[in-house]
Amino acid sequence: MPGTLLIATHNAHKTGEMRAILRSHFDLITDLTELPGMNPPDEDGATFAENSAIKALAASRAMPEAFILADDSGLEVDALDGAPGIHSARYSGDGATDASNRDKLLGELALPEHAGSPRTARFRCAVTLAKGGEVIARFDGTVEGRIADAMSGEGGFGYDPLFIPDGYDQSFGELSEEVKNGMSHRGRALEKFREWLIRG
Ligand code: IMP
Repeated sequence: MPGTLLIATHNAHKTGEMRAILRSHFDLITDLTELPGMNPPDEDGATFAENSAIKALAASRAMPEAFILADDSGLEVDALDGAPGIHSARYSGDGATDASNRDKLLGELALPEHAGSPRTARFRCAVTLAKGGEVIARFDGTVEGRIADAMSGEGGFGYDPLFIPDGYDQSFGELSEEVKNGMSHRGRALEKFREWLIRG
């Protein structure tokens, strides 16, 4: 694997987490902020895996010489039949922000029909490696946990202040980046990628 990896995202938090996990394997890890002219593809797949492949292939067609890694990820809440799922980034509609998505999630779980429902949930992540407009490999990861009653912590992004991983009392927003990366959905998917790189 050559020295440069392009992460197909504009999400600086994702790039930061992925760079922290993969930095010893690459000389340079960049992201789509290096390609300001590229139009983002429609993420119209039915699964995290399909959407990660859509993102990886779109970036790969724009930069055929580069190794591209794309992440698609989200939160599945059992009481909401798996929502927000692949719609996690836009859960609260057009113009959604991390804060509005978290408010919407707490609001849904506060509805009378969900009172007393289990708050079990999981983050899922699929990553696709592509080059020359073709998929080379796919990896995935999951972390089980529960949705807290209220937000806590300033770290991470997205739903992190609401997600308490199994075995912990603190949310991903309170745990350090190192602890989160060691067990998160993204960390687990990238650990498989690292093993694949090491195997050659
Ligand atoms: P994507 O960029 O289309 O894959 O959407 C991912 C969305 O899922 C993010 O915008 C977050 O709302 C949520 N998400 C994915 N991974 C994480 C995480 O590690 N912490 C918190 N939220 C996450």
